[in-house]
Amino acid sequence: MIRRLLARLMPGRPARKPRIYPPDQHPVRRTQLSAGARSVTRKLQESGFKAFIVGGAVRDLMLGRTPKDFDIATDAKPEDIKPLFRRAYIIGRRFRLVHVHAGAEVLEVSTFRAPQTGEDATDENGRLISDNVYGTQADDARRRDFSINALYFDPETESIWDYVGGVADVRARRLKLIGPPVTRYREDPVRMLRAVRLAAKLGIAIEPKTAAPIPKLAELIQNVPPARLFDEMQKLLLSGHAADTLKSLRAHGLHHGLLPLLDVILEQPMGGRFIDAALANTDERVRDDRGVSPAFLFATLLWHEVMVTWNAAKAAGEKPQPALFAAMDKVLDAQAARIAIPRRFEATIKEIWALQPRFEQRAGTRPARLLEHPRFRAAYDFLTIRAESGEAPAALVDWWTRFQDAGDEARAAMLKPDEAPKRKRSRSRGKRRKAGAAAEPSAAAGTPGDDTSGA
Ligand code: ATP
Ligand code: MG
Repeated sequence: MIRRLLARLMPGRPARKPRIYPPDQHPVRRTQLSAGARSVTRKLQESGFKAFIVGGAVRDLMLGRTPKDFDIATDAKPEDIKPLFRRAYIIGRRFRLVHVHAGAEVLEVSTFRAPQTGEDATDENGRLISDNVYGTQADDARRRDFSINALYFDPETESIWDYVGGVADVRARRLKLIGPPVTRYREDPVRMLRAVRLAAKLGIAIEPKTAAPIPKLAELIQNVPPARLFDEMQKLLLSGHAADTLKSLRAHGLHHGLLPLLDVILEQPMGGRFIDAALANTDERVRDDRGVSPAFLFATLLWHEVMVTWNAAKAAGEKPQPALFAAMDKVLDAQAARIAIPRRFEATIKEIWALQPRFEQRAGTRPARLLEHPRFRAAYDFLTIRAESGEAPAALVDWWTRFQDAGDEARAAMLKPDEAPKRKRSRSRGKRRKAGAAAEPSAAAGTPGDDTSGA
């Protein structure tokens, strides 16, 4: 009675009872799950608990895509889950969940949670009041972001449990927030970025009511802690659909003032071609399952900022090398205020940048020494992108491509007469080395490297 009354008073509230879709009404099969996902759900169910595959994996399988990983939702509490598995670890402070290791896999097992609401979610010390943490399965569905992310697949019966109309939305290929959009974005502004990212990645449309408030609320992103923004940006940029996502961000008015990084990427007058080439290259690598290092990507995205700053300093009469290092620090510091690029990435980013001028030096022992540098490969891939965008001469990349694969003799023949640092006058302290033989390489071998950056 009371429940029905409440449901009428709160029309946004989803059904307490799910609509259950049997296997003949959807395409997901338990054979599509990983071995770990199957064994962990089976163990939980045998122990008398509910256990479902939930979230991105169900969504991806419904859409005919291969999931990245499998998350599990259960009514078992972390203390109940842990003893069931040999290698299980309770993690997380705000929300405690369990990482269960199964072979090489790590499965995230979380207890059904209730929606978190601002003040009553924490005590005066900011600690979560435990009674508020757990909820029913219906609560758990409702606290999720999009309806298509709130589907539960039961591996035992191969049925899908749907509390929020997610199956219909998958079929209609639309991304729809659960509940009132403005409220949901205010609760967590990162959902705006997620909306754009997921729609681009899945190739589906953002439902109009879900899309409408985004431009007006975009500035709320400013309240998100930098570390979380970094994670989200990393997901966005390494999704394999970065180019599309960024276009879509612009279309939704999310490109301006959101993050210094996005301003850099999306509003760069001179860097446009370079960024396009970098994103296309990254997307291609991700889709081909070749590794992409986040440091490399951030180095590309910020490179033109560095160039602009560096060129201005040089024009003002500063020495190139110190000016480059000063420019790098300046650009990274500007980012750090809003998005926490981890320190260990910063070191790599700087190395990649600092190596760029060294590609121009092709005389004496310098090229061989550059090849030995631990970041040579990354710096060379970076140079390739610079060439693709027309910023560096294609012949330079070509030279380095051949130089890497050439034998000692061919390398010696490739070396330029010692005049390379000519354009960078102030740097060369007359420490000239003896020149190599012929200026132009004759017919040096040119086997391309196995994972040379995209064409
Ligand atoms: P991806 O394929 O990119 O991993 P995903 O939907 O699986 O996409 P995750 O960050 O792995 O994204 O989140 C797992 C699930 O947790 C989501 O499917 C969603 O149900 C829920 N979720 C994630 N982020 C939020 C959020 N900001 N607000 C509410 N629910 C969220
Ligand atoms: Mg996921």
